[in-house]
Amino acid sequence: MKFGTKAIHAGVHPDPSTGAIMTPIYQTSTYVQDEPGVHKGYEYGRTQNPTRNALQNNLAALENGRFGVCFASGLAATDAIMRLLQPGDEVIASNDLYGGTYRLFTRVWATYGIKFHFVPMQDAALVEQCVNANTRLIWVETPTNPMLNIVDIAAMSDIATRHQLKLAVDNTFASPYLQNPLDLGAHLVVHSATKYINGHSDVIMGAIICNDSDIHDQLKFYQNAVGAVPGPQDCFLCLRGIKTLHLRMEQHCNNAEKIAAFLLTHPLVGKVNFPGFTDHPGHAVAARQMRRFGAMLSFSLKEDSLEKAVKVMSATKLFSLAESLGGVESLIGHPASMTHASIPIEERRKTGVLDSLIRLSIGIEDAEDLIEDLKQALECSR
Ligand SMILES: *Cc1c(COP(=O)(O)O)cnc(C)c1O
Repeated sequence: MKFGTKAIHAGVHPDPSTGAIMTPIYQTSTYVQDEPGVHKGYEYGRTQNPTRNALQNNLAALENGRFGVCFASGLAATDAIMRLLQPGDEVIASNDLYGGTYRLFTRVWATYGIKFHFVPMQDAALVEQCVNANTRLIWVETPTNPMLNIVDIAAMSDIATRHQLKLAVDNTFASPYLQNPLDLGAHLVVHSATKYINGHSDVIMGAIICNDSDIHDQLKFYQNAVGAVPGPQDCFLCLRGIKTLHLRMEQHCNNAEKIAAFLLTHPLVGKVNFPGFTDHPGHAVAARQMRRFGAMLSFSLKEDSLEKAVKVMSATKLFSLAESLGGVESLIGHPASMTHASIPIEERRKTGVLDSLIRLSIGIEDAEDLIEDLKQALECSR
């Protein structure tokens, strides 16, 4: 089955009691049992929910995986993967991570005895140098946030295989439509479904997809035992959003390509980070492992001035100044003060997050209007 068909049909079935074609919102905390221990497979809402099951099965299909497990947020999903580790274990992660993931690793899990190495993963040799007897997990994000670096998932899988490590990929920026890490050798795929998967900026949710049934059993155990589960209404909204994921992603990508080309020629714009450019250092890898190049991009101003960047961000009318990404509407953000404020300034500058760096999440409006909006906002910074 191809992607669009799976988006609409995988994991969902008409409701057996009424024939309702759309998966009902099973807004219930518990399920009545016929006798103690005799039930229909559902005991308690934290443990199982039919709306959540449909979503989990649908997401598994979209990532070409066997199992999906949903969580109350992307970070709760990431947290569940960290629970697979033991004190003393080591993790190699990209030095250009989503700020919240970096915070979870360094301020929560590091205090429980997990050691993290943050390396520029575009260079596979640097990753391999960090591997030692305690290494258990490689954590990849690609494209990265906000620099849009590309990590070669197959190369990371090769290292993981040779050293018997697990490979987890945060696939939020690409979405399952553009990139399927399990096909490239990853063991775990993580999503902030808050972003492209739900796509309408009205749900916070996370998901993990995997193929190994032992890992799936452990994740399901933590889903229930820790309890960071999404509610049924949010699962319904997410399922509804997914039905247009393939159409949305095409329009997101079309718009992003046009806007990236516009920014490239603008006299006030410095560097434009977009993996779709043939001279982007990760372009060849992106072309190999992604269907298209995504709809996230960032750019600095020719004059690296915080003040001028603030002027641009305050002047846009269609691009809303907000954190997050992947919704139908275009967003503009300032990583240094917003999403990446929790990363120390020296770390931030090392990875190229300049004071004037502006990040765009390109929505699915009409590209011409978005370009006009950026044009007038850039003029305001003169
Ligand atoms: C937003 C985001 C997360 C965290 O997801 P939440 O749903 O906000 O908890 C993790 N990784 C990436 C790449 C993200 O963009």
